[in-house]
Amino acid sequence: MTPMHLKNKNTAAHVIQRELIRLVYATVPLAVLVVFVNSVILCFIQWSVIDHATILIWFVAMTALVLLRFVVYQKFNNLGSSQKISAFWERFILFGSAASGLMWGAAGIWLFPEDDIAHQVFLAFVVAGMCAGAVTSLSPLLSSAVAFVLLAMLPVLGHFLFVATEISGAMTVMGVLFAVMILFTAKNLNRTVRESLLIRHENKLAEEAIRRQALYDPLTDLPNRRLLIANLKQEIARSIRHNYIGAVLFLDLDYFKRVNDSLGHVVGDQLLKQIAQCIEACLRDEDVVARLGGDEFVVLTPEIGEEMGDASKNALLLAEKICLLFDEPFDIDGQLIHITVSVGISLFPGTDNTPEELLQSSDVAMYEAKKAGRNRARLFLPEMQQAVNNQRKIEKGLRQSLVEGRLELYYQPIVNEDNKIYAVEALLRWNHPDKGIVSPAGFIEIAEKSNLIISIGDWVLKSACEHLAKIAEKNDLIMCINVSPRQFRESSFVDKVKKMLLETNVNPGCIRLEVTEGMMLDNVSETIERMKELTDIGVSFALDDFGTGYSSLAYLKQLPVSVLKIDRSFVLDIGHNSSDAAIVETVIAMAEAMKIGVVAEGVETQQVLDSLKRKGCRQFQGYFFSRPMPFAKLINLLESRQGANILGFKEPGCIELASKCKENSV
Ligand code: C2E
Ligand code: MG
Ligand code: MG
Repeated sequence: MTPMHLKNKNTAAHVIQRELIRLVYATVPLAVLVVFVNSVILCFIQWSVIDHATILIWFVAMTALVLLRFVVYQKFNNLGSSQKISAFWERFILFGSAASGLMWGAAGIWLFPEDDIAHQVFLAFVVAGMCAGAVTSLSPLLSSAVAFVLLAMLPVLGHFLFVATEISGAMTVMGVLFAVMILFTAKNLNRTVRESLLIRHENKLAEEAIRRQALYDPLTDLPNRRLLIANLKQEIARSIRHNYIGAVLFLDLDYFKRVNDSLGHVVGDQLLKQIAQCIEACLRDEDVVARLGGDEFVVLTPEIGEEMGDASKNALLLAEKICLLFDEPFDIDGQLIHITVSVGISLFPGTDNTPEELLQSSDVAMYEAKKAGRNRARLFLPEMQQAVNNQRKIEKGLRQSLVEGRLELYYQPIVNEDNKIYAVEALLRWNHPDKGIVSPAGFIEIAEKSNLIISIGDWVLKSACEHLAKIAEKNDLIMCINVSPRQFRESSFVDKVKKMLLETNVNPGCIRLEVTEGMMLDNVSETIERMKELTDIGVSFALDDFGTGYSSLAYLKQLPVSVLKIDRSFVLDIGHNSSDAAIVETVIAMAEAMKIGVVAEGVETQQVLDSLKRKGCRQFQGYFFSRPMPFAKLINLLESRQGANILGFKEPGCIELASKCKENSV
């Protein structure tokens, strides 16, 4: 295989050569005009001293050559900018220049009056002028410039030596010096033109790379969400104008995470690439397939029918065709992988006429397909509208609340073996105008599906850092901040965290970002790189909700996480459920072996705490110690406690907090 840099170099050389040819062809009309005018003048001036038949033959030959060059130029001009420039065009420039040089060389012999010095000098002057002009126009293709100059100049210079008049020696020396000088100029011009073309080519490549990064998914090379939304916007407008129906198919692979976890992310990435190619291959040219991230793809197919019945039928047929692609296993380096896909379909134009709304309704239909047993397609039906409306209502309310300052951060202590608070977790609350304090469980997922999670995440990061700055002086606390996968995927995330740390002047060592395995569905090496950029400045990471999903030990080895948080679903019932107890025990043993800390979430009773301690757990979080509380309450708790055992203050402080902080759901 050709190494990448060599391949790039070859393409660059190719592109530059093509541009050089274009540059030379661009000068042809002016060049042939000048040649024609100068030959007329030369013939006119030499008419009195040279045999007329010779002049006429030379003039006819020169004019024929001028016409031929112009015709070829026109053919080249009709090629169109995207058409390949074959070697013929370069060869023709060389031929045209050599032939033209030869004609001027012939003038140096045939139109050279042996006994008229004035006309000899005039002829030399015209030939030299032509050479100077040719050097500027032909220098992009150096061989053509050299061929022209040598073939045009040598005969006239030789002729001067041959006739041996009183000025011929001087004329020859000056002529040779002139030829050397213009050839040298041609070489310099050629280098300058090549260099500027190379710079232009590199700039173009850099611009293209930036554009691709912004609009294409780096793994599959498919359009990303941004480009899909732009395409969708256009297609919706077109469908309304031209009165046809298009479809959006939302594809989500079934149990993709299992592949990633059992076979590793390299295989998972390969599988995603192969799936992307398969889907693309089964679509029409005008259809678009995009990757939204993780294992989600969207197919946009315009003009799928002219009326609803037909369009629905065709869209379902297309979805079936896509599902059938998954009947055969995918072969990844000899490993056969069986996977299926669930598809949700939305048609447009309809009541939902923005790209985001369409994606939302096809997503809802896709969830219906999952609920119905996966590996199938579902069309978005009016009955599903209620779910969409609910999501939109929450999204709209949340957006407004963010502006109105109705979001709040609550804090829940995380304690060590001696029940001392060593960290707090910032937990988002929505101070809903009608429902009071609302817990994030019901709205974080909705925010995650829209861009809203980015602004909310920014706000959480800022507020948590500001709060930490207020208490950091008196308390040595770690601030744990939840980060959603979408937020982490933003290319500006690392810079945002660094900027926030600088602005609030908090110690990066006191910040722990809680991430989930969902983040790993995307480019894993990039995720790890980003995490390392932050751990390098002291920020630490906790892997949240560990045990839910299909926690992968393959990732865990690579991730720079310092803490695992065992999900509360395993902890709550540890006393009665033996498999939960076994899972917790295994996670603790594994983390110990990997020298990673473990926090057990959801500790509600003394019995659970005792059981966890017996299994070797050293850090705890849960209602047994304290419910999440507003910042003001946290300050009170920290001031009254001053490093003592939190349970010593449990009565009445925490009980009171527990009863007051009941939360609602949206
Ligand atoms: P999480 O990060 O796993 O947070 C722990 C959740 O467990 C919190 O729920 C907390 O109130 C609850 N919890 C703590 N101790 C106990 C206990 O003893 N028993 C029971 N039953 N529950 C307990 P919460 O605050 O409703 O948050 C739910 C999830 O929402 C969080 O789970 C986290 O994934 C997400 N979340 C919260 N705040 C943010 C945020 O600022 N950004 C992002 N992206 N996600 C957030
Ligand atoms: Mg958390
Ligand atoms: Mg958790």
